[in-house]
Amino acid sequence: MAVKSDIEIAQEATMKHIKEVAKLVDISEDDLEMYGKYKAKISDEAIERVSKNEDGKLILVTAINPTPAGEGKTTISIGLTEALNKLGKKTVAALREPSLGPCFGIKGGAAGGGYAQVVPMEDLNLHFTGDFHAITSANNLLAAMLDNHIHHGNELDIDVNRVVWKRCLDMNDRALRNIVVGLGEKTDGVPRQDHFIITVASEIMAILCLCEDMQDLKRRLDNIIVAYNRAGEPVTAKDLKATGAMAALLKDAIKPNMIQTLENTPVLVHGGPFANIAHGCNSVRATKLALKLADYTVTEAGFGADLGAEKFLDIKCRMAGLKPDAVVIVATVRALKYNGGVAKQDLNEENLEALKKGIVNLDKHIENMHKYGVPVVVTLNSFISDTQAEYEFIKEHCESLGCEFALANVWAKGGEGGIELANKVLETIEKKESNFAPIYSLDLSLEDKINTIAKEIYGASHVTFDSKAKKELARLEELGFAKLPICMAKTQYSLSDDASLLGRPENFDVNVREVYVNAGAGFVVVLTGKILTMPGLPKKPAAVGIDFDEENNKITGLF
Ligand code: ADP
Ligand code: MG
Repeated sequence: MAVKSDIEIAQEATMKHIKEVAKLVDISEDDLEMYGKYKAKISDEAIERVSKNEDGKLILVTAINPTPAGEGKTTISIGLTEALNKLGKKTVAALREPSLGPCFGIKGGAAGGGYAQVVPMEDLNLHFTGDFHAITSANNLLAAMLDNHIHHGNELDIDVNRVVWKRCLDMNDRALRNIVVGLGEKTDGVPRQDHFIITVASEIMAILCLCEDMQDLKRRLDNIIVAYNRAGEPVTAKDLKATGAMAALLKDAIKPNMIQTLENTPVLVHGGPFANIAHGCNSVRATKLALKLADYTVTEAGFGADLGAEKFLDIKCRMAGLKPDAVVIVATVRALKYNGGVAKQDLNEENLEALKKGIVNLDKHIENMHKYGVPVVVTLNSFISDTQAEYEFIKEHCESLGCEFALANVWAKGGEGGIELANKVLETIEKKESNFAPIYSLDLSLEDKINTIAKEIYGASHVTFDSKAKKELARLEELGFAKLPICMAKTQYSLSDDASLLGRPENFDVNVREVYVNAGAGFVVVLTGKILTMPGLPKKPAAVGIDFDEENNKITGLF
């Protein structure tokens, strides 16, 4: 029997009206701002009302270093949420909104997979409720106001060579990485080199995801540094008087969105920074709302635990005062073999030797998560191609480390396939206490914070700083940003900053190429290795397989 694609399964779903789904967590029709029948935003009044509820437990889903296809964190998060609900535990997932970049690139959508998906998946993957459009618009309004200010006499004395604000677009488009704006006549603006980043790497995305409310959003927008003047002092969005208009554009985007799983349980999907070039977590507002609505909240941080989980724990949890009760690390046989050196096209063949070689990657992530004082459960995301011998090897390996382990079959079976994992998570939360603490203190120097992440989490021996980066770090400390946390930008394929070093690399250096402050978001961004903030499309992008079937009125080929 042919395996159905994600979109085929999603299109066969029987969705309930979102007001019926919301009722499960005591959200009434009045609390919803409807975007059609199956999508809604939660009103500020509802958020305010439930703010007095007690917080539920928080479960983070993360993973080992992935293959380019993704390892199933979203799939597991959704399946685990459904399974916990099946066990009678009121559970809500808090997830990120997908970006069009990967949708049309290599990975495809981000609505889960198989029988563990959120629906309507086409809407979620394409445009959804317009949040990314609002973020892109706010970002580019600021850019337009900046260039306009320079054109009209440059009262703030902005140094055109030190403009740091970049335009953005939610698209993988390498041709926009380096551009020249302002060409043409005198009336066409002042020419300067400019750059585009992908919307999910925009500081506005980070601000939207980290803010507590509209007031906090505005305060953070005020603080965005767009350029430096000729005396070397920061010029902010506040100086350009752009905050009010940006906030107006974002007024609905800061409200969390609710949709449903294939089994009609509520899910909050809100914000979507990438984990390799941004902080990688859904909004604080959605996570906090989920904690108020449910007894258990399942949330995902992007890519491997070296990126998403590190930033979830060191940036988001610290800033928002969240305390995770358990971490689920997703492993797959194929990613372990990939880490053991098997080529992408051979990942479906049994290969115990490669599995043994690659499992050191999982070991490192388990050790890392324990360093944060949070109980860990490893789950194997079961694939049809996995063999019994491969499964047993992983299970025994985890048990020999004294690590909780459960098989998850949610891709094939939905919530039913997640019962073993759900029970394991409940049991772990019950018997193991979480003593969560970030890996570094904010009192360390910026350089020492970077060193701590690179050595403790990545396993690096040294960090080397390009001279430009070193100078900038000193300058940022002088400007008063020494106490900020660090947002590392690094390849997702390796624990190191070199995508080709798989498994558990040792004796390597991490190279810091560039650093800059996101003063509004409240972190210092550190670019390592070859990481780019505007991705490109592959030779044969996923977009070539996507179509709209006008006869049946449906999208095809989205996966
Ligand atoms: P992540 O969140 O880790 O990036 P996703 O949950 O988005 O990963 O899954 C990535 C892709 O892998 C999706 O297309 C999904 O359908 C597929 N996938 C996930 N789990 C399985 C599985 N157990 N068997 C087959 N395909 C899977
Ligand atoms: Mg995901």
